Amino acid sequence: MQILFIEDERKVAQAVHEGLEREGYHVDLAHSGEEGFFLLNSKQYDLLLLDLMLPGRDGLEILNTLRKKGLTLPVLILTARDAVEDRVAGLDTGADDYLTKPFAFPELIARIRALLRRGRGEQLLRLQVADLEMDLVTRKVLRAGKSISLTSREFNLLEYLLRQQGQIVSREMLAQDVWHETERATPIDNLIDVHIARLRRKIDDPFLLKLLHTVRGVGFILSEEQP
Ligand code: CA
Repeated sequence: MQILFIEDERKVAQAVHEGLEREGYHVDLAHSGEEGFFLLNSKQYDLLLLDLMLPGRDGLEILNTLRKKGLTLPVLILTARDAVEDRVAGLDTGADDYLTKPFAFPELIARIRALLRRGRGEQLLRLQVADLEMDLVTRKVLRAGKSISLTSREFNLLEYLLRQQGQIVSREMLAQDVWHETERATPIDNLIDVHIARLRRKIDDPFLLKLLHTVRGVGFILSEEQP
């Protein structure tokens, strides 16, 4: 079992690290949100232990981003004893459980065991940006609660954009990852543009807030904010 622990207080991090390793878990430590996020993007973890009180990119922001990206690993947050709002915000943002600091080590272990039991077999089900939602099980797409009918290619294209939301996606990435076209000798830029236009007509045209933006000369970005 691989656990990632994001905690800036090195003493706490070290003590928990040693304790968990003794229990047979493999633990990676990250001392900042940025470092933690980098590890989350580069390695598979079974559980994230996340201190909400971090400098810079704080715990809630990390949680929010990873849930939006569709990462469904169980997340146990650590909060200050009196920070009720933090706890509520954390659970609302997609944490599975919380523990207040300071905590007793056996309690941490019990929570981790429970989450790992529960987490097994569950997988990613939903992606979302603003009021645009995608259910990966039923393959339904909703915007502002209304159902949108997409072709299978449009669905895959939107799924890819949702997973990369907030980041620029180039035509090259789309060619490779959505069309599985690796030969640069046969550029399919026009085909991609046609599909983007169709997708935009369905998910954006009837709505005031535009989500799918073109970044001239670079590609596209799915975001609530204007690039
Ligand atoms: Ca901290």
